Amino acid sequence: MINMANEKVAMPIQDGVTRRNNFDEVALGYDETMAKEEASRCLNCKHHPCISGCPVKVNIPAFIKEVAEGNFQKAYEIIHETSSLPAVCGRVCPQETQCESKCVRGVKGESVAIGRLERFVADWYRHHVKEEKKPPVSNGHKVAIVGSGPAGLTCAGDLAKLGYQVSVFEALHVAGGVLMYGIPEFRLPKEIVQHEIEGLKQQGVTIECNSVIGRSESIDELFEDGYEAIFIGTGAGLPNFMNLSGENLKGVYSANEFLTRCNLMKAYQEGADTPIQKPNKAVIVGGGNVAMDAARCAKRLGVEEVSIVYRRSMDELPARKEEVEHAMEEGIQFQLLRNPIRVIGDESGWVKGVECVEMMLGEADESGRRRPVEKPGSNFIIEADCMIMAIGTSPNPLIRSTTEGLDTNRKGCLITDEKGKTTREGVFAGGDAVTGAATVILAMGAGKTAASAIHEYIQNKE
Ligand code: FAD
Ligand code: SF4
Ligand code: SF4
Repeated sequence: MINMANEKVAMPIQDGVTRRNNFDEVALGYDETMAKEEASRCLNCKHHPCISGCPVKVNIPAFIKEVAEGNFQKAYEIIHETSSLPAVCGRVCPQETQCESKCVRGVKGESVAIGRLERFVADWYRHHVKEEKKPPVSNGHKVAIVGSGPAGLTCAGDLAKLGYQVSVFEALHVAGGVLMYGIPEFRLPKEIVQHEIEGLKQQGVTIECNSVIGRSESIDELFEDGYEAIFIGTGAGLPNFMNLSGENLKGVYSANEFLTRCNLMKAYQEGADTPIQKPNKAVIVGGGNVAMDAARCAKRLGVEEVSIVYRRSMDELPARKEEVEHAMEEGIQFQLLRNPIRVIGDESGWVKGVECVEMMLGEADESGRRRPVEKPGSNFIIEADCMIMAIGTSPNPLIRSTTEGLDTNRKGCLITDEKGKTTREGVFAGGDAVTGAATVILAMGAGKTAASAIHEYIQNKE
């Protein structure tokens, strides 16, 4: 029977005070009863508008129907036909602007909790089904993947299933890209990402960490080594700065450096190899998911006062609504309509404050958002011994500057056709390296598209 409740079944979470002292996952997930109850809110619509909101076109009504009937394994199999990382997407996809934004139940109440159900199914499967994947029969062709984020991993998985011998080259000492070094443990437990990577290894994919393509080996050398096609999924990990006076002071981090130290190097644990300064007061500049993650990590490191400084208002804040609410519950302060103009240092070269100005919103700019304009004479100082810049990232120029024939746009993003083919024969690309900073599911979608284009390319060559 259809459950006509207007609200989603609530998902248990750790309370705000407890969780600001630990890095454990905030949202605890549905149990079987909750999942079935939520799944029975789905109307199984004939025209299934929700699917049009999903970049990889998960068959949402079909998997939810199986959840409602308690067939969790079948539900997993349906999701897995189109999404290779459901436990990740169920947690970090911006569902409210994707699949859930199209759900008809959202017209008169809350949409069906598609993301929570996807997460439930993937977790249920991980805990209940122990499958040993076997490498498929080799087709004798070699493909190299550069970068082990969601784009590279998805491309690798799809090609391995077709029998390709796939080698992934990763610059860092751990595979997973932003899923490992950027998104914190309390939003995406690392064990889940590693489980997916283990599955790929069982399918015969080899992963070579500490391998910076463009330095340790070039794209041309990979071709000389016998790889017939190369996929570049190197992301957009180069942090942007504002070029403020004092931005090079000690205590100023890019969000990427701060999060990498925290998440990948576990700097918050006693005796960790990479130390991290434990500041008293931190200012985070920016309003996206990265800014929320940095602020919430700082809080968990024990920083007393954590402020987010963002130049527009709450309405324009680009971070996911749920992340903003969680940040507020954890005691993060929001300095909205404020912009930093100078970093102030002490005599030993450490940050001691950030000079800001108040802003107001003017006419809309080319992005359609109202342009922030400074209020003259509104300068004020926020005391801080740490400043974290989370104002966006760009693709790293290393590969394009060491490879002939790879065209990029003015933002340094690789140019590809709709199938992920770059301007260099045999080289394909996808994910943030092509789009600039975007989302996990879009990167996965690009990896999938490129895998089928690579297959077609190699078959045609044959
Ligand atoms: P990445 O995940 O960046 O992976 C690229 C990999 O390539 C990295 O491991 C890098 O080390 C490696 N690499 C780079 N250069 C080389 C080289 N020369 N040789 C070898 N390896 C190389 N998206 C969401 O959907 N939801 C969220 O909640 C969300 N939160 C985020 C929070 C943070 C802190 C950040 C930084 C991003 C977040 N995103 C989120 C965005 C999302 O993570 C990215 O869009 C996605 O990871 C891009 O995937 P990718 O595979 O293109 O690149
Ligand atoms: Fe929604 Fe993401 Fe799942 Fe697609 S992959 S159905 S967008 S949660
Ligand atoms: Fe179910 Fe909503 Fe999709 Fe309709 S639009 S099938 S109610 S999830």
